[in-house]
Amino acid sequence: MVTEDIIVSLRNVSKKYHSLEGETEAVKDLTMEVHRGEFITIVGPSGCGKTTLLSLISGLFIPSAGEILLSGETKNDTTGHVGYMLQEDHLFKWRTILRNVLIGLEIKGALNAQSREKAKSLLHKYGLGDFKDHYPHQLSGGMRQRVALIRTLAIDPDILLLDEPFAALDYQTRLKVADDIWKIIKKESKTAIMVTHDIAEAISMSDRVVVLTKRPARIKSIHNLDFTCEERTPIKCREAPEFRVYFNRIWKELDVHV
Ligand code: ADP
Ligand code: MG
Repeated sequence: MVTEDIIVSLRNVSKKYHSLEGETEAVKDLTMEVHRGEFITIVGPSGCGKTTLLSLISGLFIPSAGEILLSGETKNDTTGHVGYMLQEDHLFKWRTILRNVLIGLEIKGALNAQSREKAKSLLHKYGLGDFKDHYPHQLSGGMRQRVALIRTLAIDPDILLLDEPFAALDYQTRLKVADDIWKIIKKESKTAIMVTHDIAEAISMSDRVVVLTKRPARIKSIHNLDFTCEERTPIKCREAPEFRVYFNRIWKELDVHV
């Protein structure tokens, strides 16, 4: 793999939180790389430092030690490079779907006729064109997550960070929405780094799964996934013969620490 292909590089990254109660070491000496266009999922025990890791990559937090490079550079301002999608859709209930999607552009000061048209065409492309003047409460949970993704895509980030994006949805909806979101991310050729506690979800969506140790998070193992199924979509590859093998392997890795 040539180095231009590396979009995120963490080098010996550590993060300590300081509070009145003392110090919490959340991430320790973590080194990893993410390739352009890759879908990578991070799994690990609850409280091990997964969200902290995404916050470091997003630039929300600064590492206590080590460095993070985006496309080979340290960025003081990650705006426009990184988009963050959370478990809750965080749509504003008093804004229409279109005006929710435009909010990132407004904040960035990048809202103009062209970016507004692009946002509209994304809504249209992903089946929400007829809902642009609706309000969030008129949409299903799955549709709202799609809106949240489109809002993130509207600022055209290189990298998408997803923190347990489907955790608030019921199981049946989650399978469908995960499939949906995955297809959009692939179609838009984005790099994705997702956190989930659902091993099956991780395997179904990812090119690689990174297993973290208990806190402070370090890399326990990395699993390259390869599927024989004809069409590699999350729902299809759940039926692939390799799925169970990967599931057992990763489950055992995690189980040790639970
Ligand atoms: P995960 O997402 O894997 O569940 P987090 O990254 O949220 O874990 O948290 C890792 C550890 O850091 C936990 O012990 C948590 O209590 C602590 N932590 C997280 N955020 C903060 C913060 N802003 N200030 C202090 N401690 C924090
Ligand atoms: Mg978390």
